[in-house]
Parts: sequence; C-alpha cells; structure tokens
Amino acid sequence: MENWFRRLRARVSPNKRKTDTTTTPTLVCREAVELITDYLEGALLPETHAQFEAHLADCPGCRHYLEQMRLTIGMLQDLAHEPVFPETNEALLQVFRQWKER
Ligand SMILES: [Zn+2]
Repeated sequence: MENWFRRLRARVSPNKRKTDTTTTPTLVCREAVELITDYLEGALLPETHAQFEAHLADCPGCRHYLEQMRLTIGMLQDLAHEPVFPETNEALLQVFRQWKER
C-alpha cells in the first residue's frame, strides 16, 4: 500500500465508541478498524484474521466501515496512475466523517 494512503488512514484514526475502552480478549472497534487495510491486503495472521471476522460478525458498524474501505480502495486503484488531487482527499475525508457521525 502506498505511503500516502497510510498517512490518510492515520489521519482518520477513528475513536468513536466510548464504551469500548475496556480491555477484552476480543477486538474492540478501534483495533478492528486498524486491521482493516491489512485484512484487505490479506496480511493478517490467521489468528488475527479470525478475531477480525468474529468482530465483524457482531458489529454492523465495522462491517459498514469495511465496505467503505473496499469502495475507497477500489476508487484509489482506479486513480492509481494519477496523482491524488486535494479534492479527492477532501471527498474521502467527507466519507469518513459521515461514517463517524453515525
Ligand atoms: Zn466494531
């Protein structure tokens, strides 16, 4: 994945669920979200992959986020031969903002 995309992801850094701050053996949303790009790249360890999918099964919010990421990555791949224009970044951030407000 491109460095600029990692920077974009870092800027997004969702922290939406105030109730998920306790330590549990399963993933919290914040952790799941951090794994999404690795998941889409097939870069997760089998154990982590299973935890991630178990979280998705119980979490409509993260399923939706995964779908958004898939769409975003597809769009970025379409643009891969182009530089990223500021308007594109803004449009992506708008998508993430809308999601976070739900
Ligand atoms: Zn979640």
